[in-house]
Order: sequence, then structure tokens, then C-alpha cells
Amino acid sequence: MMLTDLTIAGMKRGLAARDFSATELATAHLSAMEQARGLNAFIVETPEIATAQAAAADAALARGNAGPLAGIPIGIKDLFCTESVQTTAGSKILQGFIPQYESTVSGKLLGAGAVMLGKLNMDEFAMGSSNETSAYGRVISPWKARNSNRELVPGGSSGGSAAAVAARLVAGATGTDTGGSIRQPASFVGISGIKPTYGRCSRWGVVAFASSLDQAGPMARSVEDCALLLTSMCGYDARDSTSLDVPVPDFAAGLTGDLRGKTIGVPKEYRLDGMDATIAALWEQGLAWLRDAGARTVEVSLPHTRYALPAYYIIAPAEASSNLARYDGVRYGLRVTPPGGNLADMYSATRAAGFGPEVKRRIMIGTYVLSAGFYDAYYTQAQRVRTLIARDFELAFEKCDLLLTPTAPSAAFAFGDKADPLAMYLNDVFTVPSSLAGLPAMSVPAGLSPDGLPLGLQIIGRPLDEAGVLDAGLAIERAAGFTARP
Ligand code: GLN
Repeated sequence: MMLTDLTIAGMKRGLAARDFSATELATAHLSAMEQARGLNAFIVETPEIATAQAAAADAALARGNAGPLAGIPIGIKDLFCTESVQTTAGSKILQGFIPQYESTVSGKLLGAGAVMLGKLNMDEFAMGSSNETSAYGRVISPWKARNSNRELVPGGSSGGSAAAVAARLVAGATGTDTGGSIRQPASFVGISGIKPTYGRCSRWGVVAFASSLDQAGPMARSVEDCALLLTSMCGYDARDSTSLDVPVPDFAAGLTGDLRGKTIGVPKEYRLDGMDATIAALWEQGLAWLRDAGARTVEVSLPHTRYALPAYYIIAPAEASSNLARYDGVRYGLRVTPPGGNLADMYSATRAAGFGPEVKRRIMIGTYVLSAGFYDAYYTQAQRVRTLIARDFELAFEKCDLLLTPTAPSAAFAFGDKADPLAMYLNDVFTVPSSLAGLPAMSVPAGLSPDGLPLGLQIIGRPLDEAGVLDAGLAIERAAGFTARP
């Protein structure tokens, strides 16, 4: 077996047994990265940092005081500020921005001994479901459909993270999920990813998209690996006012995959008209697998589901328009000064040149729904709908412990296939409701489409029940025996 094929758990065992060193692990992954540059998964590669961190991990392992992730090669989504390493959020407006501090989450991973190989490409400011909006070029999925040579999207916005993990360039990666950006790309490339409860991971140092929704989480090739990363990423942080001050369990140690006594809800509103037959069948299969693991399944209702996408695409742009007001050419990255122009001219020219079309669309929608004449009609209404959606989940969780749904309505699509923004937004139909409610949710690879592309199933849990979500994920992983590779 190649070193790059190992799971994080396998790497930990091999490092502990001295089968290989952290330096050998880093070297193997750095050369895989070089050979896979065509995927465009990284915006910045950091081989010098990786080499130094791997040497430090080897020294700590030799001393016997290594952290829980010592020597594990990871990638960091370019939304996380990394000290002294360019952080762009996939945007031209932040080109050349070198943070002077480390985000809490990336700092915790590095503090646990992880080795950073680079900054992963993403949709600009995490807006997108296909990674086509990055100012640094699209990310290409390592997968191809059977009998087709078309290049496929890796999903988004954490598309670089997804492609790098699936192509075995890194063992795990950070993602962020505002409306599905960890789960949908994980589903598209056949890996696992979990968005924890809103507030579990600190947002400090994560470039803000929609602050009431943004949440960090891990992406990796097994449920156990997600659990290992998540344990190090979570935790209270006084610098984020929405950070939850609750104990963090050792998620990996607690994994059992045993669902005896658990009830799994099947939300009937997720059975969309015209739903892809393979996805509907896989969903049924997933329920059967969970029953085999000891669970009972029941139908539940989430009656406001159909209003989730419209509410999300008001709330997220509203918050984005406010968060993105800070990019004015004065403080960070790009500055465009038109000859003879004044300060306002510099603001406009910088923003016109620095933001891509999708980001501009969101800023305009967001500014519109927050404007004096339309605030109540759109923004206030969307906030009310959000409350109803959260209430739907509360009521459903009186009848069940977890929910099982598909992650996305399709397998990965080809570039340009969803050129209409609305068609793109519809891809988030199954992931957005749990984001609006702040619930933990995970995607696990469960099968293949008829043309051989990965499909994920989504598990949604009660607030702070990441452990329950991971257990159901493990039960699916074991039953599905997903071994397909790009
Ligand atoms: N695709 C969704 C959007 O474009 C979700 C993005 C995300 O979760 N960051 O807003």
C-alpha cells in the first residue's frame, strides 16, 4: 500500500509503530501534489512549512510527547487565515493578503501536530456549488464518468478540499459549510465530511461569508478520520461570540456504529417530484443498512422544507453584502486607483475589479433585501421562515434521534452544465435546511451512479449530537463498503 492511501487512523498507527516517519509521509504527499497540479486543488503549496512541521512531528514522536495529529498531512481551505501564508478566500480582491495571525481552527490542527501542505482552492468567498467561481481557476474533480471524458466539477465551495482528499494529495482537509459546502463536495468525490453544530468550531480567523450560518468542519476518507480531525477542531473560543462553551468529546474514541435503540427519521418532504431513481433507491438502501445496525426508521415531516432555499438565498446574501463591505482597497489585498479619482472612485474601481460575477450578484441581492423599502418583505420574512424551519426539526426530533436523506439531488455534473445561477442554487436543496437550523450534518459515500460517480447520504442530528451523526455515518460506511476510487 502506498503511504498516500492510508487513512489518518492508519497513519497514526504506522507513525506510532515507526513503520515510517512523518517526513516520509510529507514527502510522499508533496510528490503526489506535484503530479496532480492539473486538478488545481491548491492556490498555494507550502512545501517548506510542511517539511519543517514534519521534522518537528518526528522529533515529538521520538520524544514521546507528540500531539494527536502529529505528522498527519492536511490541506487548509483558503478561507482560513494562516499566519504568514497568503489567504485569498478564492478572490482576486484578497490576492497578496498575508495574515499576521492564524485562525483558531487551523491553529488547533497545527497545534495537534498536523502538517500543512498548502491552501486549498475554493469558490470565491465560499459562494458556489461547483468551484467554478474561484478567481484562481476552477478545480477539476479527479473523477470521470464511465464512457465520458468530460471534466467534472468537484462540488463547492470546498472543492479544492474535496479534490485533494479524494485524489490522495492530503489525508484530510478543513472545509467550511454555510449551506452545504462540506457535504455536497464530499458527496461528489466519494469522501466523508461533517459540518458540526453551529458554534462548535470557532469562526475566528475564518473569512466571513454569512456569519449566522458559517461553520468549519473536516473532510476525510473515513468517518473515523473525520472524528479524529473534528475533536481537534472544536472547542470554545472567547474570540468568537457565537462559540459554544461546551465540553468536546473524543469523537473517535466514542465511535461504535451501533444504532440499537436509535430511531431514524425519513423526512417525507425530501422525496422530491422527479427525484433521480438511483438516489431514491440508495436512500432506501441506506435506511435498510441503518435498520441492520439496530435502528428503527419512521417517516417524519418537515413541512417548511420548500421555503428553505428561498430563505437561505435571502439571508446568506444579506449577511454577505454586509461582511464584504470591508473590502474597500484600503485595508487588504487589491487596490485600484483610477487616475484623477477620489476615494469613492477607488472603492468602486477596487470592488469592480476585485469581485467576480457571483459575488457581485450576491452583494446586489443582499443589499436589495436589506434596503429600507424591502427589508420587511424579504429579510424579516426570511428570518421568520428560518425560525419555522428550525421548529420543524425540533418537532421531528421528538419522534426520532437522527434523520437520513440524500446529500445532493445529483452526482457531480460537468463544467458549465449549471450556468443558470438558479439551477446551481437548487443543488443545495437537501443541505440548506439543516444549515438554517444550525444542526450537525454529515455526508458519507454510499454508492455509485449508473455512470460510476459517487453518491453520498446525509445524516442530520440534534444540536451537539455529532457523536450520534458519526455513529450513523460509520454504520453506513461499514454497510456500503465504498471502495471505488477516482
Ligand atoms: N452553495 C451554497 C452557496 O453558494 C453554499 C455555500 C457554502 O456552504 N459555503 O451559498
